Amino acid sequence: MDYKEMKERLFYAQKSVYDLLSDEEADAVAAYGEAYKDFLDRARTERLAVKRAVELAEARGFRAYEADMDIKPGDKLYVNNRGKSMMLAVIGTKPLSDGINIAASHIDAPRLDLKQLPLYEDGEMAYLKTHYYGGIKKYQWVTIPLALYGIVVKADGEAVEVAIGDRPEDPQFTITDLLPHLSGDQSKKTLSEAISGESLNILFGSLPLGDEEEKDRVRLGMLSLLHEKYGICEADFLSAELEAVPAFAVRDIGLDRSFVGGYGQDDRSCAYAGLKAILELNTPERTAVCMLADKEEIGSEGVSGMKSGAFDQFIGRLCRSQGVALLDCFANSFCLSTDVCNGFDPGFPEVSEKRNSARMNYGMGIMKYTGVRGKSGSSDASAEVIGKLRKLFAEKNVIWQMTELGKVDQGGGGTVAWIMAERNIDTIDAGVPVLSMHAPMEISAKADLYMTYKAVKAVFENYR
Ligand code: MN
Ligand code: MN
Repeated sequence: MDYKEMKERLFYAQKSVYDLLSDEEADAVAAYGEAYKDFLDRARTERLAVKRAVELAEARGFRAYEADMDIKPGDKLYVNNRGKSMMLAVIGTKPLSDGINIAASHIDAPRLDLKQLPLYEDGEMAYLKTHYYGGIKKYQWVTIPLALYGIVVKADGEAVEVAIGDRPEDPQFTITDLLPHLSGDQSKKTLSEAISGESLNILFGSLPLGDEEEKDRVRLGMLSLLHEKYGICEADFLSAELEAVPAFAVRDIGLDRSFVGGYGQDDRSCAYAGLKAILELNTPERTAVCMLADKEEIGSEGVSGMKSGAFDQFIGRLCRSQGVALLDCFANSFCLSTDVCNGFDPGFPEVSEKRNSARMNYGMGIMKYTGVRGKSGSSDASAEVIGKLRKLFAEKNVIWQMTELGKVDQGGGGTVAWIMAERNIDTIDAGVPVLSMHAPMEISAKADLYMTYKAVKAVFENYR
């Protein structure tokens, strides 16, 4: 018996994307990386992601959907939900009762939101109080450059857009940390206690305005500048959403440029994959829907989150125009819940079980289940669904790997998959493996970014 041949036939052997790519596709991987970096640089908040997605969609002939519009195969539509989440659809040739193919990702990312009364002065310096959004390791957010984005709604109702820190001539912001010489006490604290939530105060300025004997001169100076530039007063912060996010530019990482380093890759890496796939889509058989959700990092609650009825309303209206019941459509639908997974980090092997952990450059990671402890909170996709995907991805040369979120009982988590599954839609988690997830600079591999896009494209075109 030839055991070597037998091994080849019986063993499951994973391969690096780079051992399978043609030269032509290697060029496509590089080109995809460039376009992705540009998107990531512009889409630093959920609002900016929607803004950019609308621009790209309109340039590709997508138009804003209006209630009870007549639809026909090939129509390219989008819904901008309050400027913070977005749905795009390409209407298929088959009726909606045959189901739709969805790629659901999220465009919010961990960050520091300004509190509703953020501005104060201490030691003749001005600061902004923050309340962190999503799961962050607080010590990572000090001594890095920050930019400030968002909306201020003034007393008269006018909304003013704020963006400070991305243009080369702009100032930036930061949160200070203690010098090591005086960090004896701080160093004895645990990692999560050393920098507290209430100490994440942004250094905002220091120029005093007014006479020496006056109080709060720096605070006045800051408000004077804000009033000059944006016409806002301190009370306008009450009706504002301002987000401080890492300001460093998205860059290639590694001498060979194989990685992308930047903020917000969870989950704008998958959002971009879904967006690009739907923008390029010709009339599919089944209607394709790209969901760019907000609020995933805080539980998908809220009107712009995946739990919002906005999704059901949009698909419901499309269904109604064909006389189809929404639940009949959902029952036959499929959702690729595209969110990042943790790439295996050789620096921290103890949190993963190596055989069932995504490796960088081994393609898109699929998670049959997520959850914590005994898969709690996971929608746990069926063998049948994975079987269909295996077949489809083999046909379309999509390179993927199976993974799970850390070893058993190490921790865990989840994303929007269960929310889609609750709608009676077959759903599975899949996405780009990243290192340093939720850090101000996250790392992805260009090969995996590209394969995730290819996977979504294959689902939109051929999943049935
Ligand atoms: Mn995510
Ligand atoms: Mn996340």
